[in-house]
Amino acid sequence: MRELAGGEGPGQLVVVATPLGNLGDISRRALALLESADVIYCEDTRHSNKLFSAHAIAVRSRLQSLHEHNEASQCEAIIERVSAGETVVLISDAGTPGISDPGSRVVAAVAAAGLVVTTAPGPSAVIAALSVSGLDTERFVMEGFVARKHGERERLYAQWASEPRTIVFYESPQRLATTLSELAEHFAARRAVVARELTKLHEEVVRGTLEELSAVFSSREVLGEIVVVLEGAGPMPALDEATLRAAIADQLANGMSVRDAVSSVSEELGPSRREAYRIALELRAGQV
Ligand code: SAM
Repeated sequence: MRELAGGEGPGQLVVVATPLGNLGDISRRALALLESADVIYCEDTRHSNKLFSAHAIAVRSRLQSLHEHNEASQCEAIIERVSAGETVVLISDAGTPGISDPGSRVVAAVAAAGLVVTTAPGPSAVIAALSVSGLDTERFVMEGFVARKHGERERLYAQWASEPRTIVFYESPQRLATTLSELAEHFAARRAVVARELTKLHEEVVRGTLEELSAVFSSREVLGEIVVVLEGAGPMPALDEATLRAAIADQLANGMSVRDAVSSVSEELGPSRREAYRIALELRAGQV
């Protein structure tokens, strides 16, 4: 088994996943990389020091900080180091760097410079939550943190009305109850899972319909880190042609192009695009 990857051969940037909570959730290879890296870029050095102490990794003088406010300006220094043959390790506070965390800019810049970018994969809250959700894991969509503004959230919910894949998003404990209650208004009977404090002392995975979950979380204090996994939309009922025709005619009369009218109606009512397109072209031809 080849475990050591640092300090050998040409330079590389290694994206290393770290635990979500339980400090035991780190691979032997990730630890070896942290031991041998020429430099470790991390979000919050005090936070990562807990991981280093737990595994007796001496990092003094090899730590650099990389967070959302300095990521762009650190790219050049990282490219120089990798070009000079160094092994640069990138970690975030928890989970996988670049996933709703800093890292993707650095990865893009190092890759664009034609240098090696590799990974020591491991925990990520999105995958951990999905894996215990019991919902369909065949196809899913990750939304990151959902928008805070009401209008943006409503637009997102309108998209989710016809999203057939399982939907995963991160949510703060302060906003969980509001989000669940908004979602319950739109999709009361859809199943969802709230995965809280995974791998930690107060780990909790609560499953139910959105209506049930909204009732549970509106009546208690919620703390900790949370991922919500939401069942996708079932197959949309077929629309009769008259309803579809009326909806498209409405959009065309409002000045929309055929393309936009088809997109808007397909998203809202879920008909097959081809059918909607045929009707829109027929209606447009009748208008001229
Ligand atoms: N890059 C990280 C990853 O791959 O998991 C995610 C970083 S994002 C800034 C942090 C969010 O991930 C938290 O606000 C929470 O939504 C989710 N999260 C992180 N740790 C978690 C845990 N132990 N249990 C549940 N959700 C967690």
